[in-house]
Amino acid sequence: MNTRFSCVGCGKCCNDHHVPLTLTEARAWAADGGQVIVLVEAFLGNGLGLPAQQREHAERRSCRVTSGSTEAYVAITFAAYNVGPCRNLDEDQLCRIYERRPLVCRIYPMEINPHIPLNPLAKECPPESWEQGPQLILGGELVDRELAELIGRSRQADRDDIHTKEAICALLGIRTTALKGDGFTAYLPDINALAKAIDQVQAAPPAASNQPWHFHLSGNDIAGQVQAAGALVVSEAGLDYAFISLRAA
Ligand code: SF4
Ligand code: SF4
Repeated sequence: MNTRFSCVGCGKCCNDHHVPLTLTEARAWAADGGQVIVLVEAFLGNGLGLPAQQREHAERRSCRVTSGSTEAYVAITFAAYNVGPCRNLDEDQLCRIYERRPLVCRIYPMEINPHIPLNPLAKECPPESWEQGPQLILGGELVDRELAELIGRSRQADRDDIHTKEAICALLGIRTTALKGDGFTAYLPDINALAKAIDQVQAAPPAASNQPWHFHLSGNDIAGQVQAAGALVVSEAGLDYAFISLRAA
């Protein structure tokens, strides 16, 4: 597959998109007065919730934790909470923090996950942006070396940050996850508490937390499977998070 691309500056990707942030970026976002959403998903040690071919990538960006009598791998995303236009988007659809915008803003519309191929139809970019500019993908391979380097940095940050993010979640009482593929749990922590927790964990990294995680599932059938594997399942939704279901209606 060959794909050309040139950003036309429409600003659509800066609207209604929660932008995944590295830990450093999340701290800067909080310092700027922005809100950060915490999205959590996990798969079980027995592979429940995980397509087999994704195991290596998913495991490397996850933290091994306990849930009941089993182990689980939890992935935690800190993202800029953007409902409507991003707080940094100006009237001319330009980014006010362009020089220090987050990595993911530099990478869009490319995917970070190596198992998700670029699908222009799933992106915000208008048709004309795909009809001009240099080759982005040639023979199925990304040809832009600078972009490839940014994607590599983003994946590395995911791996480097995960244990710290898990410890931050422990401090904030974030302990309920969704099952990968079934949904996400989404938390909107008080931003000052999040900033304080980031500073605290970075100043003195705690020993691995042994606080168990619970699973929130989309239905009784999947909850039964998770429970049968020995994991803890919540019977009622917590008040401190929203469950975002990925199950087809
Ligand atoms: S930080 Fe800048 S580039 Fe990123 S979403 Fe906001 S306005 Fe867009
Ligand atoms: S949606 Fe696509 S074309 Fe529009 S500003 Fe974002 S990257 Fe550029």
